[in-house]
Amino acid sequence: MSHSGECNCGAVSARIAGAPVAVRQCWCRQCQKLAGGGASYNAMFNTDDVELTGPLASWSYVARSGNTLTMHTCANCGTPVYAQSSARPQFMTFRLGFLDEPHGLAPTMAIWTDEKPEWAVLDSDLEAFPAQPPAPSSR
Ligand SMILES: [Zn+2]
Ligand SMILES: [Zn+2]
Repeated sequence: MSHSGECNCGAVSARIAGAPVAVRQCWCRQCQKLAGGGASYNAMFNTDDVELTGPLASWSYVARSGNTLTMHTCANCGTPVYAQSSARPQFMTFRLGFLDEPHGLAPTMAIWTDEKPEWAVLDSDLEAFPAQPPAPSSR
């Protein structure tokens, strides 16, 4: 299985050779700010599978886990592209919205649900974690 993706302006694009190791929605406060109020939707891929071109901007912060998270956006249009944890450089976490349709991926897990807004409705089919879930293993 392979995937492709593009930002809103087309300056950044990606080709991804393999299937994701996890597809999750994240309700942490940082994601709420990025997503404009709700959860972010993310597919975690093996870094080795990813070919990325185009101008990226990035910013980093120290998460409560103690790891540094770096978020990458298109330097031109600001579309969120991927995030990476200092503890797990073997993975790149792409925003589902960046991927070209039909990608056929859907979240199977909801994380940081303790931080979700009161109005948010969780899909009861999803495996839910109140905070950080265990790290997925590489393929
Ligand atoms: Zn762009
Ligand atoms: Zn988050």
